[in-house]
Amino acid sequence: MKESLNSWIANRIKEEEITKYMDGEHDFINDEEIWKKIEENKDPDPVRIREIFDKALRIETLTPDETAMLINLKDPDLYEEMKEVALKIKLKVYDNRIVTFAPLYMGDYCVNNCLYCGFRLENKIIKRRVLTEDEIRKETEVLAGEIGHKRLIVVYGEHPKTDVDYIENSLRTIYDVKVKVRNGYGQIRRANVNAAPLQIDELRRLKEVGIGTYQVFQETYHHETYKMVHPQNTLKGNYRWRLYCMHRALEAEVDDVGIGALFGLYDWRFEVMGLLYHALELEKKFGIGPHTVSFPRLEPAANTPYIDKTKYAVSDEDFERIILVLRLAIPYTGMILTAREPKEIRDRVMSLGITQTDASTKIGIGAYSDRYTEQELERQQFLIGDPRTLDELIRDLAKMGYITSFCTAGYRCGRTGKCIMDLLRAGTEGKYCKLNAITTFKEWLLDFASEDTAKIGNALIEKELNEVKEKMPKAYKKLKEYLTRIENGERDLYF
Ligand code: SAM
Ligand code: SF4
Repeated sequence: MKESLNSWIANRIKEEEITKYMDGEHDFINDEEIWKKIEENKDPDPVRIREIFDKALRIETLTPDETAMLINLKDPDLYEEMKEVALKIKLKVYDNRIVTFAPLYMGDYCVNNCLYCGFRLENKIIKRRVLTEDEIRKETEVLAGEIGHKRLIVVYGEHPKTDVDYIENSLRTIYDVKVKVRNGYGQIRRANVNAAPLQIDELRRLKEVGIGTYQVFQETYHHETYKMVHPQNTLKGNYRWRLYCMHRALEAEVDDVGIGALFGLYDWRFEVMGLLYHALELEKKFGIGPHTVSFPRLEPAANTPYIDKTKYAVSDEDFERIILVLRLAIPYTGMILTAREPKEIRDRVMSLGITQTDASTKIGIGAYSDRYTEQELERQQFLIGDPRTLDELIRDLAKMGYITSFCTAGYRCGRTGKCIMDLLRAGTEGKYCKLNAITTFKEWLLDFASEDTAKIGNALIEKELNEVKEKMPKAYKKLKEYLTRIENGERDLYF
C-alpha cells in the first residue's frame, strides 16, 4: 500500500505541464518586483487615485502600480470614495444579485502536510473518511432537496482515494440526484470543484462531466513562505505545479477558473498583488481572467498550532481593504465571501463588491445527512463563523435589498470563459442575469422558503419587476409569462 501510494505521488507532477507556460526560467511572480511596487507607490497623488477609480469603473483591470497605490491609500475621504466606487462596480457588473452555494466536503484523506490545515497527513487526531456513492447521494438530497441549493463547491483532499476517477464519479452522482420538493424538484445545477492541481488530461475529463468553476488557491504567492508552510517533501511543496494549474485548466477548456490566497500566511499586501499578477498573466496568455477570486482568512483548526503562531493575521480593517482593492483591481471578477467569516463581518463587507456567498454551511465529511448539530472539531478542516441557514441568509439579504440568484443559465448556455468576461465587462451579462435571478428566486421561494422569507422575498420580486418593466419593457412580458409558468410548477426556465 505504502509503495503504491508513493508511486501515485511520484506520477502526479508533470514538469512539462509547468515549463510550457513559462517565459524563460522565472515564473510570473517576482517577489522583489512586488515589494518594489508596494514601496514605490506610497503617498499616491489624489488626482491619480481618482483616475484609477475611473479606470476601474470602466471595468478595466488595473496595473500593479495602480493596485499598489490603492493598497497604500491613506486619505480617509478617498478611502470612503473607494467604497462607493466598489459598490458602483459591483452594481454595474453584477447588479444587486448575490449567488449562493454550499461547500460539500468529499473526504479528508490527504498526502500533504500544509502546516495550517486540519486535514494534513500528520494530524493524527482526525478520523478520516471518504464519502461513498450512496453517501454522496444522501448529502446531495439534503442540499438540493431540503435546503434548496442549486450550486455546490465540492472539496477534495489530495489522495488516491479522491483522485480524478473519484472526482469524475462524484460529480456524475451529484448531477444525477433529483428530489421532489413542495412544488417542483430540487437539483444541483452547477458543481464547482476545489481540488488539488490536476493534469491537463484530467481536467479535460472534468470538463466532459460538466464541472462548473475549477478552484485552486495558491495559498501564498510569496515563494519563501510557500516553501515554509508546505513541506518540500510533499506534492503541494511544488509552488509552480500549483501556480500554473489554471493555465492547464484553460488549456483543457475548463474556462471558469477560481483563484485565491489564504490570508494570514504572509503580508496581505503582497498577496493582493499576487492575485492581481495571476489575473494579468491569465488575461495575457488566454484572454480570460479569473471567474472568481477568493480571499479566505486563516481559521483555527483542530490540533494545528501553526495558526496561532503566524504574525500575519489579518485584522478586520485590513480585510475590508483587501476586498475593496481586489474589487477595483479585477473589476469583472466574481468575489466569494464564505461562512468562515462571522455574520457581523459578512454584513459589513457585503456592499463592497461581494458576488457569491455560502449558507447552511457544514464542512464535516457527511455532515449534511448526519444531522449532527454541534460543530465537531475533529471532523472539520477548520471552524466556520456564520451558522445561518440558507433561508435566514436569503431573508437577511432581501432586507438589505439583495436578490439571491440561483441562476446557472450562463454556464449552460455557453456564457462562460471569455464570452462571459466580455459580457461582464460590457455590463450586458447583467441583463440576462437580472431576469434569471428573478425567475430562480421565485422558484426557490415557492419550493423552500419559510413564510417570513417568502413574504419579504416576494415584495423584493415586485420591486424588481417594476424595474424590469421600466428598463426592459420587451423582456417584461416574457418574464411575466415565465413567472406564471413557474407558479404552475414548471422549473428551470431561463433567458
Ligand atoms: N486539498 C486541496 C488544496 O489544498 O487545494 C483542496 C481542498 S483544501 C481543503 C481547500 C482550501 O482550504 C485550501 O486551498 C486552503 O486555502 C483552505 N484552508 C486550509 N486550511 C485552512 C484554515 N485553517 N483556515 C481557512 N482555510 C483553510
Ligand atoms: Fe491537504 Fe488541501 Fe489541507 Fe493541504 S490544504 S493538507 S492539500 S486538504
